[in-house]
Parts: sequence; C-alpha cells; structure tokens
Amino acid sequence: MPSLSGNSEFDAIVLGAGAAGLFCASVAGQRGRRVLVIDHAEKLGEKIRISGGGRCNFTNRDTRIENMLSLNPHFAKSALSRYTPKNFIDLVKSHRIGFHEKHRGQLFCNDSATQIVRMLLAECEKGAVQLCHPVVIEGVHREGSFWRVQTSVASFASRAVVVATGGLPVPAMGATAFGLELAKSFSLSVTPVRPGLVPLSLTSDDTAFLDALAGVSLPVRIGSGARGERYGRGEFDEDLLVTHKGLSGPAVLQASSYWVEGEELEVNWLGHHDPASLLSERELGARSVEQALALALPERLAQGFAQKLGLTGRRWAELGRADRQRVQHFLVAWRVKPAGTLGWKKAEVMVGGVDTDELESKTMMAKRQPGLYFIGECVDVTGHLGGHNFQWAWASAYACASSLP
Ligand SMILES: Cc1cc2nc3c(=O)[nH]c(=O)nc-3n(C[C@H](O)[C@H](O)[C@H](O)COP(=O)(O)OP(=O)(O)OC[C@H]3O[C@@H](n4cnc5c(N)ncnc54)[C@H](O)[C@@H]3O)c2cc1C
Repeated sequence: MPSLSGNSEFDAIVLGAGAAGLFCASVAGQRGRRVLVIDHAEKLGEKIRISGGGRCNFTNRDTRIENMLSLNPHFAKSALSRYTPKNFIDLVKSHRIGFHEKHRGQLFCNDSATQIVRMLLAECEKGAVQLCHPVVIEGVHREGSFWRVQTSVASFASRAVVVATGGLPVPAMGATAFGLELAKSFSLSVTPVRPGLVPLSLTSDDTAFLDALAGVSLPVRIGSGARGERYGRGEFDEDLLVTHKGLSGPAVLQASSYWVEGEELEVNWLGHHDPASLLSERELGARSVEQALALALPERLAQGFAQKLGLTGRRWAELGRADRQRVQHFLVAWRVKPAGTLGWKKAEVMVGGVDTDELESKTMMAKRQPGLYFIGECVDVTGHLGGHNFQWAWASAYACASSLP
C-alpha cells in the first residue's frame, strides 16, 4: 500500500514513473513545485532497467532533430535544443556513474542500467517528490481551474497533470494505451500508432532461401518508407541479421520504424562498397559465382544467393550480360515485402502518439486543455535506435518541468 505524507493537493501530478515521468518530477520538484508521481507498477523504471541490454543507452552525443520521426518533424526542435545530451551527461557524471561510447555517439552505463533508475529516484528525493505506486488510475477530471486524479487508494487534486505513461511496447512490463485514451477522452487527436524498432518477419516463398541462413550478420545499406509521405523515408548503413523468423539487427530495426504494412524494403547487401570495384572482371574471372560473391559477402550468404539465383557452380566468366545484371541487381537493390513486424512484444518503441499539433512545443501542454501535459513516448515523436528515445524523454520532460507554474 503506497504511503503519502502531507496533504493531497499538488502543483503537478505526473502519471507514469518511467524515464520521462521521473525526470520531469525531479526537475519540477527541485524548482520548488509540490509534485506527486503515480504509477501502477510495483517496480519503477523497469523499461530503463532492461534497456540497452541492461546497460541503458541513456543518450546519444549527436541527437538532433533528424533522428526523430514525427508527422511534424519540427516539433521536437525546441525541447531538444533546451535540454541537450550534454546536459544529461553532466547529470550522469554528477552521480559518478561510469559510462562509455559504444558506436556512433551511443552512451551506455559501464555497470548497470539500474544506476540510471537510482539516479532518477535520488533526483526525485532531492525535489521532495512524492511517489504513489502501485495504484490504479481510475479517472482524470477537470474541476474548475484544478485537475482531480482518482486512484484506487485516494483522490488527488493539482493545478497540472503530466501524462508520461509511455507507449505500447512490451505489455508484459505494464505498457498501456492510457496516455492515448486519456488524450482522446479530452478530444485531442492521436496519430495512428504501430510498433517501431522491431524485427520484421518474412513468410513468402521468395524469401524461403533465407531460412537456412539464420545467424548471418553483415553491414548493409537499407531503405524504407516513401519519400515525402507521412514519416518520410529512412536510409541506414548498419548491420543486418538474418533470423529464423525474418530480418533483424540494427539496420532492420531502424528501417522498421519507417516501414508501413504492404510496402517493400530495399537492401543493398554490399553496404557502401562500390559494386563496380567488387565485381571487376580481373578479380572474378576464374571463380565460381558463389566464390565471387564470397569476396564481398559472408560465405553462407554467398552460397545462398548463388542458389537463389540458380547460378551455383557456374563460373563468373561464363555468365552472360543478363545474368551478371541479375546478380548485380540482387546485390545492390534487393526488394522484399515483409509479412509484418514481430509486434508490440518485441518492439522497442511506439511510432505515433498524441498529435504534436495539439501540444505547445515549448511546454508540452495541450493547447486546448490548459494544465494537461504529455511527455515522452506517448507523444508522436519517436527516436532512431541509439539513445535518441531516452534523449527525447529527458528533453520533453525538462521542457514541461521548467514551464510548470
Ligand atoms: C527492450 C527495450 C530496450 C530499450 N532500450 C533503449 C535504449 O537503450 N535507449 C533508448 O534511448 N531507448 C530505449 N528503449 C526505449 C525507451 O525505453 C523508451 O523510449 C522510454 O522508456 C520512454 O520513456 P517514457 O517515460 O515515455 O515511458 P516509460 O519509460 O515506458 O514509462 C511509462 C511508465 O508509465 C507507467 N504506466 C503505463 N500505463 C499506466 C497506467 N495505465 N497507469 C499507471 N501507470 C502506467 C508504466 O508502468 C511506466 O512506469 C528501449 C525500449 C525497450 C522496450
């Protein structure tokens, strides 16, 4: 049973004690605001704890607006510029949490993601933030210039309500559509949501040749999404992993956020290598097709491709122009229509959410519902893989916390 000290009137009630909620509460509390955080979970910050393989990729040195998907790509600019990766790095340093850079600006804890959870809780304590969990939120209503939050243990009043209940990924960890439903109940529009940063499944006969290649990983260039439409097009140079169910690895996770059911992905298996230099006559002449392909690709993949193209055992020098073009096309512009994603259970983020047109970009407050704020993943701002989602959580939380009256 959660215990609360003092009265039940607050300057702000934060719904959801994840990354964005805890950080927002701590900043507002340290500004002297009386803050209550409510969550239905027994243990707080569970998604932070499992993030980054248990080491939490807590930010990216290079987070910028280009790393965010949103129907309004400019919306996140203000928050991201006012709370930068450096600001969060300074906070992590001040708690003496060791960290390292892994790949392209991605910062991970040296020891454990729970250090970030402990840091956020310590920051909340510094701001005298009250935590109330596990409780069920039964309703949120406006009462004149106040908001009332009804829970399974008590009813609370405050001048502001901050919704930080996250997105739909990993329902087993307590993810709910609470934020989206609450927005709709106050007539705020919500953009269609779908799983992002998620492996893709392949089921067609055309891709059956990949079944035998599970476990193969290689750097590719991948493209997904239509130019100029909705979330636009994403192109990434990253590693692709063939799995028993389809495709995964950073390249595919990134591309999945731009992928819409029914569309094709485009894979250049040679990555950024120039096909002309790899397929030059002098190098390849005497080799079989699979040997030639193995100069640029993992051997198992090279054999699988040669088989798929019906060219196993043929010498490269014997191939006619049409076959060579077929090989080249397959290597640099393989198009595949995934059957689907592996769904919310395997997704790292939700693409879509509360429509940014409904929110003030400087404060995250709903324009048509003064005193009601939305931050973090429940908003239609989704980061690329690599620490950008947490940076959005910190930055949107900070924008809100520093504006709370
Ligand atoms: C496996 C995995 C690994 C990830 N790794 C990384 C990474 O390394 N780097 C990165 O940048 N991002 C990563 N992410 C994404 C990142 O975890 C999220 O973007 C981030 O946690 C969003 O913060 P949030 O505060 O909006 O939501 P959350 O952190 O999900 O917090 C939401 C909170 O709201 C509570 N809640 C939900 N519904 C209700 C309700 N109805 N009533 C009461 N409380 C409710 C939940 O219990 C939770 O405490 C990962 C995600 C997953 C799933």
